[in-house]
Amino acid sequence: MNPVCPHCLKRMKSAGSDKGYKCFKCGFKDRTAVKIETPVERTLKKGLYLPPLSAQRHLTRPRVRFELRNSGKPQYLINKWHCP
Ligand SMILES: [Zn+2]
Repeated sequence: MNPVCPHCLKRMKSAGSDKGYKCFKCGFKDRTAVKIETPVERTLKKGLYLPPLSAQRHLTRPRVRFELRNSGKPQYLINKWHCP
């Protein structure tokens, strides 16, 4: 959250990039003020989250193949596939 003005206890607004904060009510400026961090508990756990199958596109690795990687070489070749 934005910091509070020490004079009128209103939330200050950003004065611009790297310019601190200023109070629009009384005009107070604080170039060293920083945002107030408040940690938020999340219900999400670490893990793999995939969209529904109907929403997956060609770049999404399917869940069953997530641990597998192709070697880059085919396992076997079809003999003389190019000859009539
Ligand atoms: Zn103020």
